[in-house]
Amino acid sequence: MSAPQVSVTGEHNIATTAERQAIVAVPGATPGDNWIIVTRGIKRDYDMGGEIVHALRGVDLAIGRNEYVAIMGPSGSGKSTFMNVLGCLDTPSSGEYWLNGQLVSQMSDDALARVRNKEIGFVFQTFNLLPRSTALQNVELPLVYAGIPSTERRKRAQEALDAVNLGGRMHHRPNELSGGQRQRVAIARALVNRPSILLADEPTGNLDSNTSEEIMKVFQDLARQGQTVVMVTHEPDIAAHARRVVVLRDGLVSSDERRDEFVARINAGGSVHDVGTAGT
Ligand code: ADP
Ligand code: MG
Repeated sequence: MSAPQVSVTGEHNIATTAERQAIVAVPGATPGDNWIIVTRGIKRDYDMGGEIVHALRGVDLAIGRNEYVAIMGPSGSGKSTFMNVLGCLDTPSSGEYWLNGQLVSQMSDDALARVRNKEIGFVFQTFNLLPRSTALQNVELPLVYAGIPSTERRKRAQEALDAVNLGGRMHHRPNELSGGQRQRVAIARALVNRPSILLADEPTGNLDSNTSEEIMKVFQDLARQGQTVVMVTHEPDIAAHARRVVVLRDGLVSSDERRDEFVARINAGGSVHDVGTAGT
């Protein structure tokens, strides 16, 4: 079976491996302003009635402001568990998670909910829209939780829908929209609070390849405008839209490459998951 050919469409400066290794190596050190995400030895165990599942076994990762990172890895390697930790939907069993200069791995649930609302935009494979609400109402929802008055809410939700080219569909309900349009509503909802990171777990997993490209174009534009993006995907040609590709295996980082390195390896017939060297 031949590996899919993927193309490179321009590179951006990202932190060097040495810089990333330096910041993850010092336990307790507050990361500087240029780092959005720093994890040090993140572990997550699940207790399945006495049997412990080690979903994450010590993930060290540093992601700079404005980076666009894809996370890959076989099924069960811990991608969703890690995204849930990054998105403050779950707390690690041990290890440090610094988000935008704050140590969130030790926060109470209340504090975590506030951080989540302010710092995180989450996009899911299944869109997760309210079926009886219009696109506008769906996008307004995070602003309702944030206590923003209705006039301001409406204005910001309209701007977010315009930003994903859905201004003309704001009064439609999800069942009156295509899959790609639904995902764009979900992206607008994720961005309406101006989060410091956009997290997406298999955002094109339910979309055909043309629609996936349409969604990748939205992500590309956001990344160009400076939005930090972390996206899980199992498709190499989707991952190749990001500027950096991190592969998880058995709850650990098994490789961490720039897009051009990843693309060269895949185009040379390499497997996504089998890399000799460990990354940061
Ligand atoms: P991926 O997204 O890469 O497919 P997951 O993060 O969903 O992997 O799962 C990693 C491991 O943790 C798997 O062995 C999975 O069965 C286990 N796991 C994930 N969520 C839970 C949970 N809520 N309870 C128990 N085990 C879980
Ligand atoms: Mg998953």
